[in-house]
Amino acid sequence: MPTPYPLVAGVAVLVGLGVLFLFARRLLGAWLKYRGTRIVVCPESREMVAVEVDAGHAAFSAPQGRPQLRLEACTRWPERKGCGQECLGQIESAPEACLLRNILADWYAGKSCAVCGRTFGVIQWHDHKPALLGRDGVTVEWDGFKAEQVVDVLASHEPVCWDCHIAETFRHEHPELVTERPRRLGPPPSMV
Ligand SMILES: [Zn+2]
Repeated sequence: MPTPYPLVAGVAVLVGLGVLFLFARRLLGAWLKYRGTRIVVCPESREMVAVEVDAGHAAFSAPQGRPQLRLEACTRWPERKGCGQECLGQIESAPEACLLRNILADWYAGKSCAVCGRTFGVIQWHDHKPALLGRDGVTVEWDGFKAEQVVDVLASHEPVCWDCHIAETFRHEHPELVTERPRRLGPPPSMV
């Protein structure tokens, strides 16, 4: 009669791999969920602040149950580093809504470029990311602002697509090389 040991060992390996897979999935899921810059209202100052959750800590605590959240960075640090981190409640209740990238994507969604009138589609943040048109008529990129300024920036700027931002920047920096044509505002004319 054949020994059952290989079978038992095979089942044990499969169970082990299954547990490992579930562990890794929870760990990776929590890491992906909690990484990135978030905008919250500081319960202490009642002002917008940009914070980052310690995604690694959240990930490694996730397999034991609920991920434990703690801040890794805040724009009020290092002065207020000893704060109670009460803003974590906002992140826990709506982790996606306060993610800076989502706030910006929601703002651009359905809007049209203030220069060419094209409607924004899915935002490519790694390539050809959209920019902003200030009241002074100059286009700027998001890199020029601090994350906690996002609400003020959105209220004082209009959305501009990447192509128009590049063209406007060139026009602004090299006016002597640009032949002026009337700027087309609003949606492009119909083709019919
Ligand atoms: Zn445009």
